[in-house]
Amino acid sequence: MPSHLHTTLSTLLPELDIISDPDTLQSYTSDWTRESPVVPEMVLRPETTEQLSTILTTCNSLKQAVVTQGGLTGLSGGATPQMGEVAISLSKMRGIIELDRKGQTVTVKAGTPLQEIQDAADAAGFRLALDLGARGNCSIGGNLSTNAGGNQVIKYGMAREQVLGLEAVKADGTVISAMNQMLKNNAGYDLKHLFIGSEGSLGIITQCVLRLHPKTRGRQTALCGCENFDSVVALLQQSQAGFGGVSSFEVMWSGFYRYAIDHVEYTRDPLQSAHAYYVLIELEDDGSEHAREHCLEKLASFMEQGLLADVVLAQSERESQDFWNIRDSIAEILGLLAPLANFDIGVPIKHMEEFVKRVERELHARYNNLTLIVFGHLGDGNLHLCASTGKYDDKHKIYSDVYQISADYGATVTAEHGIGMNKKAYLSLTRSEAEINTMRELKRCFDPNNILNRGRIFDV
Ligand SMILES: Cc1cc2nc3c(=O)[nH]c(=O)nc-3n(C[C@H](O)[C@H](O)[C@H](O)COP(=O)(O)OP(=O)(O)OC[C@H]3O[C@@H](n4cnc5c(N)ncnc54)[C@H](O)[C@@H]3O)c2cc1C
Repeated sequence: MPSHLHTTLSTLLPELDIISDPDTLQSYTSDWTRESPVVPEMVLRPETTEQLSTILTTCNSLKQAVVTQGGLTGLSGGATPQMGEVAISLSKMRGIIELDRKGQTVTVKAGTPLQEIQDAADAAGFRLALDLGARGNCSIGGNLSTNAGGNQVIKYGMAREQVLGLEAVKADGTVISAMNQMLKNNAGYDLKHLFIGSEGSLGIITQCVLRLHPKTRGRQTALCGCENFDSVVALLQQSQAGFGGVSSFEVMWSGFYRYAIDHVEYTRDPLQSAHAYYVLIELEDDGSEHAREHCLEKLASFMEQGLLADVVLAQSERESQDFWNIRDSIAEILGLLAPLANFDIGVPIKHMEEFVKRVERELHARYNNLTLIVFGHLGDGNLHLCASTGKYDDKHKIYSDVYQISADYGATVTAEHGIGMNKKAYLSLTRSEAEINTMRELKRCFDPNNILNRGRIFDV
């Protein structure tokens, strides 16, 4: 079938970029997890929505399964090909279509790297309120299809909240153009939400309209040391009440912090002593001296109240970047700990401390040579745990152990990265049977031949 597909597409779209040489195909065998890589039958790289529509119409009539690939930074195996699949890469559908200063929107092609959009917004005096460590490689289409979270969710919400409109192509080639540019539009169903967070299972996103926010004039970055979890929670609440503009509140358990400082080359510890928890707080303000003084006063009062054991406020952009380097060193840590079980669990804050303690206790009792590091976006109830014994076999057992524990705390098995292939077995720990059956009905309606990202999230 793939050779027939190749011939058909070459005839219908002579200009289409079709990759079939074995060496080049190696770059398309897996997402960032590098888990269970599979060489796709071929890679198709359309440049326009019309080309993509023709590709899908053809694949649908041949019942050829396809996998959509953006920047391949996904962490759930969703973009990793399965045997016999053809990969559709959005890498040639890239670029800013329009930046509307009056409407404060930017319209982009789905294959555009997130950072490229952030930079374009910045150059025009705005900001895109979506940011994550993979910003240089991930694509906006991938961000929307996974409803990515990241570092500013506490203030601006997830990827979904940044989208005003989008265009997507359904499995049968139908183009759904819902390129709304307005904040309010209640004319019937808001179909964009079906494509956001559905991990490429209902259609391929080709373009989108994103909201922009005014660029804030100043920011303060504080790195804090706390001695117990109650102080961390109190610090979150007091910061939100006292500062107003908290855009990030990232918590690192001491194991994560020490691992980052000791193992990642470009990190350094700016604090005087060791603590149980480290918190990176970012505040947005008007950039005035008064705002900085207010920030210093508040931090001093938090210290007097005993919420903070230590704090350092960045004096420069460079110092702020140094603090963020500790948190962002997760990109290197993932490589250092491989093979590892990498979690993006969502846990209600009231259960977080106990949940982590139980995971630490039970995993250390069960596994030798375990490295377990924990960090998270506390305000979003989102915890990342990375656990590794260095043994591939242990990794799968650890996944099962931790997800079973998480079920006792009303957790979600994925707060950010999505289900993909890797968490499929655990979907029912988070979603009811009725929910999963409704998802199946939607999938059958949008993609009756089950050609789009087949077997991701659930089996139909
Ligand atoms: C260092 C690092 C840090 C990260 N930090 C975060 C974080 O803070 N928050 C977070 O949420 N994630 C994070 N991630 C995970 C990842 O970056 C996100 O999931 C990202 O949104 C994936 O984008 P991508 O373009 O790389 O998608 P891919 O990996 O290519 O694909 C991911 C999924 O989206 C589908 N897809 C891709 N493009 C489209 C499209 N145009 N239309 C339809 N479906 C599509 C794929 O089929 C697949 O199912 C991080 C990853 C790394 C490596």
